[in-house]
Amino acid sequence: MSLLEIDHLSKRFGGVVAVDDCSLSVPAGSITGLIGPNGSGKTTIFNLVTGFIARDQGGIRFKSQSIAGLGPDRVFDRGIGRTFQLARIFPRLTALENLLVPVRRSGLRALFSRSDWSHEKSRAMEMLDFLEISHVAGALGGSLSYGQRKLLELGAVMMSEPELVLLDEPAGGVNPALLERIADRLTRLNARGTTFLIVEHNMGFVMNLCSEVIVVHRGRQIANGKPEAVRTDPAVLDAYLGA
Ligand code: ADP
Ligand code: MG
Repeated sequence: MSLLEIDHLSKRFGGVVAVDDCSLSVPAGSITGLIGPNGSGKTTIFNLVTGFIARDQGGIRFKSQSIAGLGPDRVFDRGIGRTFQLARIFPRLTALENLLVPVRRSGLRALFSRSDWSHEKSRAMEMLDFLEISHVAGALGGSLSYGQRKLLELGAVMMSEPELVLLDEPAGGVNPALLERIADRLTRLNARGTTFLIVEHNMGFVMNLCSEVIVVHRGRQIANGKPEAVRTDPAVLDAYLGA
């Protein structure tokens, strides 16, 4: 079953066709890689799906329901989370507080009820533990290392228990030890039911982690399948060599 379906989606910026009549689908329960040369439209696809920019044409369905035309908050409420190429966290809130922000957004109940609040706090501490950053729970977001910010952003997204999470370059600029931890935690979150769609240039990371890979080139899907099949696909090799 497909969790996310993109159907003949197009987006142009002036004369640049960033996404060009693109169709693809993300299987429920998968960790799917979205790869392609620079400028092939990957981030634009993320921005379209999450409602950050409006499409020109085409359909976007999540759990068989159209989400095309919904703004970012509505898409988030439907159960789609995302992280950014450069982790977006609140620098003047503590790590713990950063995890409580999306929870507060998702319901006023949590804001006004003391008992719910302490429950969310303990969930947030569990999340920090799970990511092995509980030692910085009280530190300001702005004081964290690059890798700790990436983990914190992932934790913040997971707090709202999204069914689908779009990750834009989770491995970018991260050291090898931390890379392993990120891959391991994504695998465990996936085993608990979260589907991931991951844009990533680190091919080793993608090939090890992903159950499916979708390749885009010039705004369109040119291949999809198991990592080992995709990496030897002539159309994929051509796209990368030509880029
Ligand atoms: P990728 O993430 O695969 O590297 P992008 O989706 O960022 O690719 O970009 C696809 C194309 O769209 C590129 O040619 C890029 O320059 C262009 N593009 C992306 N966003 C904008 C924008 N906001 N305004 C103008 N052009 C854009
Ligand atoms: Mg990009």
